[in-house]
Amino acid sequence: MKMNNFNFTITHKDINSSARTGVIKTPHGHIRTPAFVPVGTAATVKAITPEEFKACNLDVFFVNTYHMLFRPGTDVVKHMGGLHTFMNWTGAVMTDSAGFQAFSLGEFGPRNSSSVKTEQIVRIREDGISFKSVWDGSTIHLGPIESMKAQQDLGSDIVMAFDECTFYPISEKRAREAMMRTHRWLEMCVKEMKKTPQQSLYGIVQGSVFENLRRESAEFIAHQDIRGIAIGSVANSKEPREKVFSVLDWTLPILLPIEKPIHFLGIGEIEDIILSVEKGIDSLDCITPTRMGRMGWIFDKSAGLKNKFRYDISSKDFVQDKKPLVPGCTCYTCANYSRSYIHHLFRCRELLAYRLATIHNLMFFGNLMEEIRDSIHNNSFITLKNNWLR
Ligand SMILES: [Zn+2]
Repeated sequence: MKMNNFNFTITHKDINSSARTGVIKTPHGHIRTPAFVPVGTAATVKAITPEEFKACNLDVFFVNTYHMLFRPGTDVVKHMGGLHTFMNWTGAVMTDSAGFQAFSLGEFGPRNSSSVKTEQIVRIREDGISFKSVWDGSTIHLGPIESMKAQQDLGSDIVMAFDECTFYPISEKRAREAMMRTHRWLEMCVKEMKKTPQQSLYGIVQGSVFENLRRESAEFIAHQDIRGIAIGSVANSKEPREKVFSVLDWTLPILLPIEKPIHFLGIGEIEDIILSVEKGIDSLDCITPTRMGRMGWIFDKSAGLKNKFRYDISSKDFVQDKKPLVPGCTCYTCANYSRSYIHHLFRCRELLAYRLATIHNLMFFGNLMEEIRDSIHNNSFITLKNNWLR
């Protein structure tokens, strides 16, 4: 059995904020923090190869265990040697617990099946959640043990604990029940993951929008035998935006001193990334750059905060524009193609459009994180923040 070779080293703490730089060492390479973690839902960062991903100045991506359970099945991935071999990716991989998507079925129903009542789809019990497969209607049981076994099959470097995701609005009573269950489930996940010490488990802080619950959850999670911490069910479940950052204010004073990496789940707007890093977050994940790219949204700092730093390349403004997507960008797309050509590809829905936009957007995020890390190192993070968010 391989020995654990995970560790997190904090390399610098900003003197003017809680921002910090560090390196997470995993069995498949290093993750420079603060890190942005793109999402490779179905064991592919859509439209690009692992080599193209690496060239975007990024170290790690997420794969969604929920999707792997159904297609191709985690047993198939295990048989093929795990995600790294299956995908031909030599860097670090994170996987989630599959819980978020499963609990979302209860909240929102499966896509394209709005007529099905939620109570028929999802049942939450002490040993996990039962739900109907959106693929074939069969009933599936997923609990902490099943989630850990699935992530062991996938062989990811960073594994998320199985938690009960809650959705806003919610009563405090119901939020407490979910938090307590999440804590009991974490103890089962810790025990199960002892079998694969080369994989590193992150526990997840829950508690919805309730300050007392979030603090209680952070205290609990901080004292568990885990290698990292994630803060869950905030940005993805329709909480008011100001609550998203209140949750960090309540929990990070408890979590930062233990010096384990802290991941903020589901954060991907530029402004939110900068505000999260300022409070001490080490990594964040979101579909933003890839999904937006496939919709024709091109990230560009000069588009400004009010436009969320992006513009729509399919606009007719670009029909005859000879400039690259972003003048001065060093990505493969900007080095070789014009706005006019990429506009044309989007208008024709040519497959190359998605690839070129994805490469540019991911490099934009990769380079933003590098700029953030450099500024923390130079104690100039607040200057960077004011420069971007003015
Ligand atoms: Zn570019």
